[in-house]
Amino acid sequence: MNQYECQQDQHNNLTCSYICIEPFCKLKRISCFQCFQDKDSHESHQGLAIDEFQQKVKFRLQNLNQLKDALDLTKTLFNQFINNQIEFIRNHILEGKKYLDDNNLYKIRFINDYFISEQDNRAPYVQEQLFKIRKKIKRINEFISNIKCMDTKLVTKEINDIKIKAMDCIKRKYVGHYKDAIQILNKGLKEIPTCCSLISLKCTCLININKIDSAQRLINYAFQINCYDETVLLLLAKFMYLKNQYGKCLEICELSFEPNQYLAYFKLDSLKQLQETQKMLAFQKECEKKFGYQFYEQYLKHQNIKH
Ligand SMILES: [Zn+2]
Ligand SMILES: [Zn+2]
Repeated sequence: MNQYECQQDQHNNLTCSYICIEPFCKLKRISCFQCFQDKDSHESHQGLAIDEFQQKVKFRLQNLNQLKDALDLTKTLFNQFINNQIEFIRNHILEGKKYLDDNNLYKIRFINDYFISEQDNRAPYVQEQLFKIRKKIKRINEFISNIKCMDTKLVTKEINDIKIKAMDCIKRKYVGHYKDAIQILNKGLKEIPTCCSLISLKCTCLININKIDSAQRLINYAFQINCYDETVLLLLAKFMYLKNQYGKCLEICELSFEPNQYLAYFKLDSLKQLQETQKMLAFQKECEKKFGYQFYEQYLKHQNIKH
């Protein structure tokens, strides 16, 4: 990375190592630390270190590339589907017209399956499905154009209410309590489909009713939305661990910005499985500094609960 020195007076040629991320800022975005203290500059604006910014860009690019592949695939499948339907319809319309003409009808030696009533189901069925697809596309467009207003306090309150209701179901432990919780969460996700905390909670329910594949797909989706969300990281670490992918599990544990005791447990578990005794002991010491001297005791207790 090139090192640029700040050209502002009295900024002592400090290195410009931050990007201002204030949405309405009109100033030069790349700035030095002092720029964020100055009244005439980015004072009270929010800044990101350049490497953090680039990390975000990298993450966004990954997502965009995945979306591009998905769009290409969908386009191919859609084109195939629509071409097949159009061909089927064109042939059957021509055929049908022949049978309507009395003079013609008696001359036709071979009448195909026009009289089979099951064939009547096809056109309404496909039409109904196309209606649903159009409705879905409309909803996607509406969601995309409203994405900006999602981050309001009202939404936060709404999300919390849904979480409390779902947790209530989960805690009560009656038959079908996880399924009821999922229903509540689905209502919320219909309104706010990208809410990571709701998705994580739904995943936990899905795991508990043994719908592992759905849970895995959903948690990968949440990870694409926010790869730093702690609940998402915890679930993903758990999945990797259960699949014996200990290296991957370690990578996920490293992603968390904040120290998280449960992620630390997974890291220790994975290091144990990889027989990295030295690293394990070093990390254990590190954790005792971060989480207190009882860390290892708590870890062992947690192990007992799990098994
Ligand atoms: Zn400066
Ligand atoms: Zn600014």
